[in-house]
Amino acid sequence: RSMSSVTIPPPACMLRPLEAPLRYLFGPGPSNVPPRVLAAGGRPIIGHLHPEMYEIMNDIKKGIQYAFQTENNMTISMSGSGHAAMECAVFNTVEPGESVLVAINGIWGERVAEIAERMGKFLRTAMQKHKPVLFFLTHGESSAGLCHPIDGIGDICRKHDCLFLVDTVASLGAAPIFMDKQNIDILYTGSQKALNAPPGTAPISFNDRACHKMFNRKTKPVSYLFDMTHLSNYWGCDGKPARAYHHTGPVSGFFALRESLAILAERGLEESWRKHKEVAAYLYRGLEDLGIKLFIPERDLRLPSVTTIAIPKGYDWREMLAYIMKHHQMEMTGGLGPSIGMVMRIGLMGYNCEKSNADMALHALADALKNCRKSKA
Ligand code: PMP
Repeated sequence: RSMSSVTIPPPACMLRPLEAPLRYLFGPGPSNVPPRVLAAGGRPIIGHLHPEMYEIMNDIKKGIQYAFQTENNMTISMSGSGHAAMECAVFNTVEPGESVLVAINGIWGERVAEIAERMGKFLRTAMQKHKPVLFFLTHGESSAGLCHPIDGIGDICRKHDCLFLVDTVASLGAAPIFMDKQNIDILYTGSQKALNAPPGTAPISFNDRACHKMFNRKTKPVSYLFDMTHLSNYWGCDGKPARAYHHTGPVSGFFALRESLAILAERGLEESWRKHKEVAAYLYRGLEDLGIKLFIPERDLRLPSVTTIAIPKGYDWREMLAYIMKHHQMEMTGGLGPSIGMVMRIGLMGYNCEKSNADMALHALADALKNCRKSKA
């Protein structure tokens, strides 16, 4: 037998066509992607360092500045999911020995606490006592269905010379956020929620305070791929005349992200926020009509993109979700982290944010309530 002959045969599954069913993605993300964004992602590839690509990246930068309501020059998209932006923010601004303060209002706070801990940082709960260099808060806490108020927090951080980092992965486009006006130093989001782009890209922006901290560090960030010295050059934000090769960006993902930001710009932020609130209110009414209890009693604190409901008494939430998937081709999900076993989550975001979709979700839930009862409550 020659050395060059293969010993592992082509796998049988690879000789069958790709199967990706049509599904109603009414969970906490990813959301369904509109045909226009899918088509943008399906365009022929160009090189990641071609001038046309730079133009597209410049457009994306402007689109993010609008979506974030910021004039920050240091505004880019990560080549990676929301977690890439989480890690980029922490890796670039925090040095060994410095402390990070994290608000744990659901699983995303827990995750950032772990990311910071992996770098050998200490978590502190009091700003005065421990002088954190970074304070993290999730705006749209998708595990709890909570939209955390932001006003005033940035000012407290400034007083304590601390950077304010906000996660809007689940809330951007669905609930108001004003990066500059609210004194947010670092803000990021994901592509796959209300923006309705495919998963895999994540807008992030740093203001001058954040840039000052991250570009005056004594040590190099632990990640080469997420090092903002390189990424700022790749995105034409560092004032240098040429962009050098750092990594190959997800070209199709950037095409799709640009298109999703274009849709948001055409529609307008205010209209997008209004629509999410309106459809969420419509969903709340329908849920209450079904006798379902909302998990967050305070209406003003509910996240318009992801609604959490208490698991109906006498039902197994896993069975309900499986029933809805099987009979309605519809994804809803259970809780995440601390909310597992406490809630079910219904997401209607961006393209999916329509009363007709709320009706479909309510119809599926009513059907599951009829057919999945375990015991008399
Ligand atoms: N933060 C929040 C609030 C999220 O909802 C999510 C995703 N569900 C993430 C961060 C992580 O994003 P990704 O899955 O794209 O890495």
